[in-house]
Amino acid sequence: MATRTATFRPRGAPTRIERERRYEARRRAQKPWRNLYKTAEWAAIRRVVLADQPLCVRCMAEGLVEPATVVNHVHRHEGDPVKFFAGPFEGLCKPHHDRDVQREEWAVHGDG
Ligand SMILES: [Zn+2]
Repeated sequence: MATRTATFRPRGAPTRIERERRYEARRRAQKPWRNLYKTAEWAAIRRVVLADQPLCVRCMAEGLVEPATVVNHVHRHEGDPVKFFAGPFEGLCKPHHDRDVQREEWAVHGDG
């Protein structure tokens, strides 16, 4: 029913998608430790944590039952491989991880 209102964008200015893509690229460049997530060690940790905590701990705190699919570092590891692999970890559902954890990152780096 309602037609989408055209938003004014100066000629040559990046679209929202372009800005998000640049943000991601910059984020990756700033955080080479993201490669730690690709290691066999992390895969093993992830498997163990999710087997141990199959339900999202933050959902449980709200009285909800939701499978955990993301392993979160309880304490910020700041790219330190020792902290990265030492934990502690918690099993979260993706919505909780994205909402709570990425908000913390965006609070630091967020320029949209
Ligand atoms: Zn949750």
